[in-house]
Amino acid sequence: MRKTGIPYGIKHGQVVHISKVESGLACDCYCPGCNARLVAKKGNKVTHHFSHYNVDECHGAYETAMHFAAKNIVASAGYIALPSTEDVVNYKIYRKVVKTQEQKIKFNSCAVESHSNGFIPDVSAETSKGIFWIEIFVTHKCEPEKILFCSQRGISLLEIDLSNTEADLSDENFRSLVVDCFSNKYFLHDERLVTEKAKCMSDMVEQYKKYLLSKSKVDDEEDKRIAIKAKMEQVMRSPHKKFNWNAFLKGH
Ligand SMILES: [Zn+2]
Repeated sequence: MRKTGIPYGIKHGQVVHISKVESGLACDCYCPGCNARLVAKKGNKVTHHFSHYNVDECHGAYETAMHFAAKNIVASAGYIALPSTEDVVNYKIYRKVVKTQEQKIKFNSCAVESHSNGFIPDVSAETSKGIFWIEIFVTHKCEPEKILFCSQRGISLLEIDLSNTEADLSDENFRSLVVDCFSNKYFLHDERLVTEKAKCMSDMVEQYKKYLLSKSKVDDEEDKRIAIKAKMEQVMRSPHKKFNWNAFLKGH
């Protein structure tokens, strides 16, 4: 889809939508990509948007603006929708599907583009369910190295797919899409699921131990039954001793 103008600019360090500013240079906004001055075009013919003032549009201005806006919207909202995830746990004779539920989780604290071990998550949030790194996908998907790092460190990694977002979405609808929508989000690593799988595996190991114990008792009973049967068969096969009538009569 061809993207039209830039819907978000920066005003006094904050992300601001075209609908929230005055027209023209009075918008007092700057480009999230190149920091050039922006002019708000709010006429009647085309969708309202920002344009660069007196310079060419910078490369990828729309994508940069959407990416910048989205991560700041997530941070200022202070919560995010988490989609459900599922996986299958197998152990010996047991198999179970483990799931996590959809939920909206509040941040205890969060940071935009903080550095961590050579990686820069778009948003890093600390929650009651651990640390979540949140990546905004407009043109570039999260790199595999970051996914590996998160899975090794027990950090949940959530990606928000905004690659097909309509350019003329209202501010409210875009904010809702970024924060509240479940269907455009997916986990690249869900530590909640790791915890559930570990619990499930632990339960299965306990169940299997009980199974082995009950099986060994049954086996013991079976061994005894076989031994008695063998003994009886042996007795049946041996010649019967004749009854000693003489001894019996002499004695009476
Ligand atoms: Zn620019």
